[in-house]
Amino acid sequence: MIERMPELSLTRVSRWFFNCYLLRGEDDALVVVDPGMPRIAQDLAPLTTELRGSVRVVTATHGHGDHVGGAVDLARRSDAAIHLPALTLSYLDGAHPRTPSLAQMARAWPLLFGQPFDRGGAVGSLLATGTAGFGGPRGMVWTGPPPTGGLSEGMSLPHAPEWTVLDSPGHTDDSIVFWNERTRTLLSGDAVVSIQGRPCFAPDVVDAEAAMRTEHRLRDLPVAHLLPGHGRPIHAESVWAL
Ligand SMILES: [Zn+2]
Repeated sequence: MIERMPELSLTRVSRWFFNCYLLRGEDDALVVVDPGMPRIAQDLAPLTTELRGSVRVVTATHGHGDHVGGAVDLARRSDAAIHLPALTLSYLDGAHPRTPSLAQMARAWPLLFGQPFDRGGAVGSLLATGTAGFGGPRGMVWTGPPPTGGLSEGMSLPHAPEWTVLDSPGHTDDSIVFWNERTRTLLSGDAVVSIQGRPCFAPDVVDAEAAMRTEHRLRDLPVAHLLPGHGRPIHAESVWAL
């Protein structure tokens, strides 16, 4: 499923309820957020041609396999840099991530989103944790070269400086979101998902207090376009009023 949003300079590529976003950055640079499907490079290839750009940066809102499973392959094919949340990088150095398991999520979440089943999405999500990321029993898995850099509070997204990184722990400790103040767009990862047209703060968290602080903080943003890690985007004068 491909949804073009030229007014926001981005495209959503969705399989089942897994969302990946392709952002237009400076010049011909394209930035990919949450390439969770191991074969996402094939899904994106026709779009990068259509947009006459090249993928320069691959990034993710957190290190769960269904958000980074395609990162290494995509970056390798497009010669792009990988920038992950700073805390995710510490997991590559041996720190152990806390996580609500993907197995739990995989049982409960599909029921919530009501999007058409996509076999590629189902298989991809199963393969993802074996390729990169955490959520399975092995901790953080990473089969490629070390990422280029880390992202944390207040930084701009490389090659797309309209997007600012905000730390948003709760669902996981390493969660971040990307906020575009000009277009009032929030790429929320799993900090906020969308269910039946309404925003829903992640029901599965590793830190309830941090999740509450994140919720208060994000509700203070004047979000008009919520682009979640799972579920359909929401567009409204104030998404929080829905
Ligand atoms: Zn997650």
